[in-house]
Amino acid sequence: MRIGFVGLGNMGAPMAANLAKAGHAVTGYDPAGVTVEGVSVAETMEGAVRGQAAVITMLPNGEIVRAVHSDIARLAEPGTLLVDCSTVDVDSARAVHGIAHDIGLLSLDAPVSGGTGGAAAGTLTFMVGGSEEAFAKAKPLFEIMGQKAVLCGEAGAGQAAKICNNMILGISMIGVCEAFHLADRLGLDRQAMFDVASTSSGSCWSLNTYCPAPGVGPKSPADNGYRPGFAAELMLKDLNLSQEAAEVAGAETELGRHARDIYARFVEAGGKGRDFSAILEKLSAR
Ligand code: NAD
Repeated sequence: MRIGFVGLGNMGAPMAANLAKAGHAVTGYDPAGVTVEGVSVAETMEGAVRGQAAVITMLPNGEIVRAVHSDIARLAEPGTLLVDCSTVDVDSARAVHGIAHDIGLLSLDAPVSGGTGGAAAGTLTFMVGGSEEAFAKAKPLFEIMGQKAVLCGEAGAGQAAKICNNMILGISMIGVCEAFHLADRLGLDRQAMFDVASTSSGSCWSLNTYCPAPGVGPKSPADNGYRPGFAAELMLKDLNLSQEAAEVAGAETELGRHARDIYARFVEAGGKGRDFSAILEKLSAR
């Protein structure tokens, strides 16, 4: 399949590389001018969008997604499948579906979970909103980039699932960091803490797969000086999205709100550009 890929950042680059490795003809575009193995990089968005059977986007936020999708809609031919894998607000996702629908393009919101490790390994989980027809067309691509794709419902349902998932993630990462911090203060060895909690009822993805303590557990951004990974400001973006959604929906999400405030303070105090697990480093410095 001829595939355009817009947004070749920490996530987009390995996802595009996996599609190319599987034999698809992938043309990418990113204003940052990156190169990706197996992917031919266009100098303009038009170069990455014209004549493609599918266009995938992996972009920072809803404002950029809306702007980029307006351009894509102008450039793509009818019948083209548009898949936005970015994490954005439900309203932006629905707006983008509307633009596509009006001019006869198939569209899906398909945010992902699994981090940069999952993107590189092709083991992401896709949470998808849109029609069954669009989902069936995109499924072979999801199977290359990920291990699971769930059609969650109509337009925007993928983003709804994503913000709920990431609210769990933000809360659990803070919990794991606080547990390591407390272990330190109690004189408990970090490795012993990991060996116990990762095989006990404290086990969770933030601990077992993405351990925030350097030198403990599997390799994670903590072992790389907390270079993202998943940047703290992106976690803050997701927690803001979940809190905005909770307000509109009338849901009580007290821990989610608390996690949002902790990440807001962290980002403001110099955490921008650091991995979201660097909360442990900040606690340790106190
Ligand atoms: P990133 O900042 O590394 O990549 C975003 C890319 O988009 C950058 O390379 C940037 O140059 C490009 N870009 C910005 N404006 C553009 C435009 N107008 N046209 C084309 N490209 C443009 O971010 P990321 O970590 O790859 O995350 C991308 C999305 O995936 C975000 O919505 C994020 O919330 C979500 N996400 C990230 C992770 C993670 O672990 N990093 C995990 C799940 C979901």
